[in-house]
Amino acid sequence: MKVIKFGGSSMADAKQFKKVAHIILSDPDRRIVVVSAPGKRHSDDTKVTDLLIRLAETAKNGGDTETVLETVVERYAVIAADLKLGKEIVNTVRADLEARIANRSEQYEKFLDCMKAAGEDNSAKLMACYLKKLGHEAAYVNPKEAGLFLSEEFGNARVLDKSYPLLYKLRERTGILVFPGFFGYSEEGDVVTFSRGGSDVTGGILAAATEADVYENFTDVDFVYAASPKIIEKPFPIPLFTYEEMRELAYAGFSVLHEEALAPVYKLGIPVNIRNTNNPDAPGTFIVSDKKAPKSTFPVVGIAADTGFLNIYLHKHMMNREIGFGRRLLSILEDELISYEHMPSGIDSISVIIRGSNCDDEKLARVMDRIKNELGVDTLHAERDLAIVMLVGRGMTKSVGIAARATEAFNRAGINIKMINQGSSEVSIMFGVESADANAAVQALYGEFFD
Ligand code: ASP
Repeated sequence: MKVIKFGGSSMADAKQFKKVAHIILSDPDRRIVVVSAPGKRHSDDTKVTDLLIRLAETAKNGGDTETVLETVVERYAVIAADLKLGKEIVNTVRADLEARIANRSEQYEKFLDCMKAAGEDNSAKLMACYLKKLGHEAAYVNPKEAGLFLSEEFGNARVLDKSYPLLYKLRERTGILVFPGFFGYSEEGDVVTFSRGGSDVTGGILAAATEADVYENFTDVDFVYAASPKIIEKPFPIPLFTYEEMRELAYAGFSVLHEEALAPVYKLGIPVNIRNTNNPDAPGTFIVSDKKAPKSTFPVVGIAADTGFLNIYLHKHMMNREIGFGRRLLSILEDELISYEHMPSGIDSISVIIRGSNCDDEKLARVMDRIKNELGVDTLHAERDLAIVMLVGRGMTKSVGIAARATEAFNRAGINIKMINQGSSEVSIMFGVESADANAAVQALYGEFFD
């Protein structure tokens, strides 16, 4: 049994819906289908999710919701008309959006999640309707009725363990099940969404819960490439990654798969297959457990970079003798609910790397004050425009001189390395560089390891 997920570009218009239906119907094992909201039809277009966010903001500010609401309805109406589905499904979409606005919560983040979720919810209803029209047994599945329970972290939820045995029961149902991605329900019964791009996470959860043989994730590329095609022209296609490799790359900005999508399938070793809706004959890229992965012939399989990191640097003479220093430093961050990403340290110095988006200027000022007052440091400063560049490959474990080759490549390109951190797993080496150097750093490393 396969769980199969289609992203926003695969759901953008009727032409894409037809391709999706064809892919589903060409393999009877494709039983559970997860869909995103309609994405962009061309580069200047707006994703339905972004339109829904605009709709929520308009409602909050007491603006003219009617116009924005009709723009959203129109996206579905055009698809329905092209697929000859009749008016009823369009009226269902309109009524659904109106009800979400009319019954809105006073708490904006709750209301916003409820609006965002409408994108995938209606997409799933439309797809189920289309499959039925084509003469197949298909049903829309509501995540609440199926038992997808999430933590009450609006816009950034996590799955609750109790969902897994409930969702397992989907196996008992017949026909094709169309499940909306991106959201579930809190224990109180409110709609809660994952972070953006979260339909990938829904797919991972359903694959794990139903113990699927494979999780197929259809997007708009034939392969996952060794580096972003936006930075490297015609990058090398990679047919297979391990979970760890993909996790490291997704973390550092590989936008192919949501960073949290692998967590549910990882424990069970369910392979993930990234494929192209526009070219379904291409085998795509597999992501598998370390045990199932063949030995890598290359030391490096991927290079990624992400900007927007914040570095808090501190120095204190004889820090290494001070018991509890690290704990006290981290508890300051904990009090401000800031998670840290990396913490490279020397004898008398530590850098704490944080995602800039997790720490606004106000929070940062409070954190800096407390570090100064409570830890008695000699030097303390923070800089915001740090990029993290990740060199990833399971083959690095057995290869000598990878870091030397990387630093030499940076040297040739005139890029200043602010920090190096080798993960203890030896699957990756992380470099901190200035944000302005991020793309040049990827190019330098790509030139060294792939050209
Ligand atoms: N539609 C949502 C977004 O644009 C979730 C997804 O597509 O996975 O973020």
